[in-house]
Amino acid sequence: MHDRNRATWVVASGRTRAPGEPLNVPPEFASNYYLPTERVYSRSDGTATSLALEEIVGGLDGGRALVFSSGMAAAAAVLHRLPTGAHVVVPSDPYHGVEGLIDEGVAQGRWRATRLDPADTEAWVDAARTADLLWIESPSNPLIAVADLPTICGAPRKEGTLVAVDSTFATPLNQQPLDYGADVVMHSATKFMGGHSDLLAGVLVTRDPELHDEFHRRRLLYGGTIGGMEAFLTIRGIRTLSLRMERAQDNARELARRLDAHPEVALVRYPGLESHPTHRAAASFMKDFGALISFDPTGPGERASDVCARLELIHHATSLGGVESTMERRAVIEGQERIPPSLIRFSVGCEDVEDIWDDLDQALRGTRET
Ligand SMILES: *Cc1c(COP(=O)(O)O)cnc(C)c1O
Repeated sequence: MHDRNRATWVVASGRTRAPGEPLNVPPEFASNYYLPTERVYSRSDGTATSLALEEIVGGLDGGRALVFSSGMAAAAAVLHRLPTGAHVVVPSDPYHGVEGLIDEGVAQGRWRATRLDPADTEAWVDAARTADLLWIESPSNPLIAVADLPTICGAPRKEGTLVAVDSTFATPLNQQPLDYGADVVMHSATKFMGGHSDLLAGVLVTRDPELHDEFHRRRLLYGGTIGGMEAFLTIRGIRTLSLRMERAQDNARELARRLDAHPEVALVRYPGLESHPTHRAAASFMKDFGALISFDPTGPGERASDVCARLELIHHATSLGGVESTMERRAVIEGQERIPPSLIRFSVGCEDVEDIWDDLDQALRGTRET
């Protein structure tokens, strides 16, 4: 824990400050260390670089962090601690990788799962009394729905019920699930923390020492440990997290407003818009609304593919959270019926807002088609 602003923490933390040492912990490429020592083997004990990254992220989320080789490795460490027959509650639109993990466990008879609308706060509060795990993702992917985290995480629970929050879209700068009462926060650091679309990384943060030890054990058993280079690049990315988020969120706020008024757009999903069904929940506890917008162009689903194909500045690519704006039609990627066929998920980057708008507008209108 720390008493500085998070915008300072991302820059100042995770450094040795020892005379003669470099300002930045370098990438440490090591599997094993000379004995006798505390740090024996990096799959279990990490490297100097991954430990520095854990100090940074732990401070941001207000707990102890463990970094993993990807967001999915972190999510698996939470799910696979469940006993056989456990009851898992998940959002109706979870990240599709997490959904795959949940569905596989259901098919194998490991657990049963109930899906709840992230906006149905009462249903989540009820579920806390009976379920073994509440897996909340907020804002959700790709509908960008915000769950009322303070109410759900603070609700009375059955003894032993674990509340986990996938906070990837919000980052620790916009919400603090552990403060609201969650047991564990998960991030795909591949996204905003890394921030440059050039690495995979995941994090779990908890205040419970026993949970931390359990997750640590799962990491070493499954081998989901982060490499030295990825840990270094994630730290490099986090140094500008606050700056990048500020710029991307300013852009997103403006672009959502303009998209909402665009004649070629049927629907915009962005919690900063007052018309968004979860705007009130989001405004009640989030510091800002993030940098993701989902929108549906008018017309049939194929029109959304046409819009993506016409992009010149914005990158037609999956994933999100990089300095560069990216967008894709999600129904093509996930192929699931729950994804609205026209939905385009737009990860707003740090380019000049007028340049992004110019590209969006021409792609929507098809004016530069030859
Ligand atoms: C990307 C993502 C994940 C999975 O993370 P990886 O780093 O790709 O393994 C989990 N949850 C959300 C919300 C994501 O966007």
